[in-house]
Amino acid sequence: MKICILSRNKELYSTARLLDSAEKRGHEVLVVDPLRCYMNITSHKPSIHFKGEPLEGYSAIIPRIGASITFYGTAVVRQFEMMGVYSVNESVAISRSRDKLRSLQLLARRGIGLPVTGFSHATMYTQDLIDLAGGAPLVIKLLEGTQGIGVVLAETNNAAESVIEAFRGLKQNILVQEFIKEADAKDIRCFVVGGKVVAAMMRTGKEGDFRSNIHRGGKAEGVKITPEERSTAVRAAQIMGLNVAGVDILRANHGPVVMEVNSSPGLEGIEKATGKNVADSVIAFIEKNAQPGRTKTRGKG
Ligand code: ADP
Repeated sequence: MKICILSRNKELYSTARLLDSAEKRGHEVLVVDPLRCYMNITSHKPSIHFKGEPLEGYSAIIPRIGASITFYGTAVVRQFEMMGVYSVNESVAISRSRDKLRSLQLLARRGIGLPVTGFSHATMYTQDLIDLAGGAPLVIKLLEGTQGIGVVLAETNNAAESVIEAFRGLKQNILVQEFIKEADAKDIRCFVVGGKVVAAMMRTGKEGDFRSNIHRGGKAEGVKITPEERSTAVRAAQIMGLNVAGVDILRANHGPVVMEVNSSPGLEGIEKATGKNVADSVIAFIEKNAQPGRTKTRGKG
């Protein structure tokens, strides 16, 4: 079949692996930078153009939309959906997952375990916010942070108060979260494809850091997850409406808690840590499911 990978650069590890796997399985694949697509918006015959030509005859797209291009990227995905092209992750699900607060609210509503979390933008009632999240020790996060930047551990209520006040001065949305000490600077990334965890790795923070981000010098290895962790990851992906998702979990005393659900999870860390062929799982899923008009939301919303 003809598959289009929406990605800014075909040299990126994840993109290159998906391309290679799809080609090896006999598909015709084109990598398209979504920012270079342009489109018409008509009710009769929506189309997408790239480098002067229409993108036609595709059975499926694989969106790899980075956080910084969510707005335009999801519009391109939506246009494909309007043309009846199957998208492995639908545009609405990608947009939903990019909104961390909305995601946490959706997961909480469906009973997924989460760290006790407060959020605020500009309250002066700092102590009340701290109480709402259960008191120190607390993890305070900038909502827009990535790779562990803007994630601070406040061991005492006084420290928490100072950090919250400093962040308030920056006019940022913040999360104030129960510190899962027993997670011991480790988190688990479950890679979910089509309702199954196809690979799982444990990331461990570098000595002295409670954050397990690889970019901060953490390390990763394959891990055997519990049935409860497995079902939590699968349910979290399903609630977000994502066929392909990276679900980040902390091991808390009271069971697995979800930190984040990622709609464009990277393949490099997980394939190298587990030796699993995750790219193949994604392509196999598409082979089973890509049919014209299979997009549930039909580009709505
Ligand atoms: P980012 O999205 O910037 O990576 P995260 O929210 O994932 O930020 O936090 C970075 C790391 O900090 C996590 O991978 C985890 O190891 C650690 N961490 C985050 N929140 C908590 C928490 N509530 N309790 C314990 N550790 C946490």
